[in-house]
Amino acid sequence: MIPVNEPILDGNEKKYLCECIDTKWISSEGPFVKRLEEGIAKVTQRKYAVAVANGSLALDLAVASLDLEPGSEVIVPTFTIISCVSAILRAKCRPVLVDCHPATWNLEAKSVEAAITTRTRAIMVVHIYGLPCEMDGIFNIAKKYKLKIIEDAAEQLGQYYKTTPCGNLGDISTLSFYPNKHITTGEGGMILTDDEKIAENAKSLRNLCFGPRRFYHEKIGWNARMSNLQAAVGVAQLEKLNENIKRKKMIGDYYNNNLQNIPGLTLPLRETSYARNIYWVFGIVMSEEMPWSSDEVIALFRKEGVECRPFFWPMHQQPVFRELRLGQPGQMPVSEWLAKKGFYVPSGLGLTFEDQKRVVEVVKGIFKNCKLTKNK
Ligand SMILES: *Cc1c(COP(=O)(O)O)cnc(C)c1O
Repeated sequence: MIPVNEPILDGNEKKYLCECIDTKWISSEGPFVKRLEEGIAKVTQRKYAVAVANGSLALDLAVASLDLEPGSEVIVPTFTIISCVSAILRAKCRPVLVDCHPATWNLEAKSVEAAITTRTRAIMVVHIYGLPCEMDGIFNIAKKYKLKIIEDAAEQLGQYYKTTPCGNLGDISTLSFYPNKHITTGEGGMILTDDEKIAENAKSLRNLCFGPRRFYHEKIGWNARMSNLQAAVGVAQLEKLNENIKRKKMIGDYYNNNLQNIPGLTLPLRETSYARNIYWVFGIVMSEEMPWSSDEVIALFRKEGVECRPFFWPMHQQPVFRELRLGQPGQMPVSEWLAKKGFYVPSGLGLTFEDQKRVVEVVKGIFKNCKLTKNK
């Protein structure tokens, strides 16, 4: 089976991990945590970086760090991971969902502006799969309505919007270091900001909101600390970031070059006016006329020894949010189409060229004789 993702751990990971063991520094107090924070702050050109246990907690802490009044509305794409919406809810705010663009799969300024009410206080932008959101329009709206921007850059470390690094596009931004991301710590995440007060809030929330006296609290926080072991892997991984991004582009370009002109398939855009695709994952979306759902086509790939994954399922169609009435079926058609018809093929950093050639063959084989119907 060709796995959908396999990380590469062939740099200094082992050496730095051994340093942790040899020095007995394994908790979050160890020196690699600071080194990773400084390294990430440097590549994202940020003043403050706060390492945390994973990307979902990074979002929880990021929203909480802004001290939004309970009941504030935060605009967020429906086509994203649940972590975005759960972070807003845990901060006692209300998520207001918007659809995405059919070619970039990202939220758009015009739908964000249409969703603004007197209670809107923030916009959560999420860069989806390989391209950053079109930010100039978002910046204008944030300025006009005095809104904070929370940037979920989990999938886009190493990407740029024009000349600004992703992770540097929000009042507060977050990263994930899960093994399918551009660098990994196994589990891990980072919060980024240039605002000293927000950074102090995030650090306090990360560490149970200890007061000046330990075990004395004015707020409830989390234990969201990253261990020195995780950070040691992260420091080694960061040394390879540029190489990793180059590899992701190569893999994505190879698929794009070899899968053109298959009727009924939408492939990722190579580039837009503001960014070149770095293909965090290589998504393929079938037209409505194709006979299979994403789950059905994934089963066909599995039979051929290729592991694929479905796209996100929209937040307005999640059973867990039914009571919240975040959107009606049919109201955000692009995200619903992506969910029903989208899947991604193996593109992990560990993918070999042979594997990639095989994936292309299998895609062509499956879709070659596919009859377009309209009954699903
Ligand atoms: C991976 C991811 C996260 C969550 O990160 P974890 O480290 O897995 O918790 C959040 N947002 C987006 C867009 C992601 O892709």
